[in-house]
Amino acid sequence: MPPDIEAARQIGIGAAQAYVDRHPFDVADSLGVRVNRVDHDHLVAGLRLRAEYDYDARKIVLYRHGIAELGEHGEAIAVAHELFHHLAATDDTIASKLRAFSRSTRAGVEEAAAHAFATEWLRLTIDPATPNIS
Ligand SMILES: [Zn+2]
Repeated sequence: MPPDIEAARQIGIGAAQAYVDRHPFDVADSLGVRVNRVDHDHLVAGLRLRAEYDYDARKIVLYRHGIAELGEHGEAIAVAHELFHHLAATDDTIASKLRAFSRSTRAGVEEAAAHAFATEWLRLTIDPATPNIS
């Protein structure tokens, strides 16, 4: 694993400690982030998107069909992942850690951190490269 990605994962794992034992939906609510479920598919480069975070609207969109592929905890996994993107945009501590990475790698770093955040939070074991949650 490249060092940047391992460093990114540590940011996600560290950030998750504040939320362990809380449900992602409750945390979204307390952070003022709405969660909307939609039935239509959203394909990006041929991949079915599972969820996305809309910064301007402070909203997480869950694509039901894509989420279903994640299994019974799909919604919790997706909301946790997207909440990291919310924190990356709104939490100064997390944002400053991400800014330490070069601009060209930052999107990939944030994805790896978001995945590690969700995985640690929900105590699941998922290959960090697997889910195409953006
Ligand atoms: Zn993501």
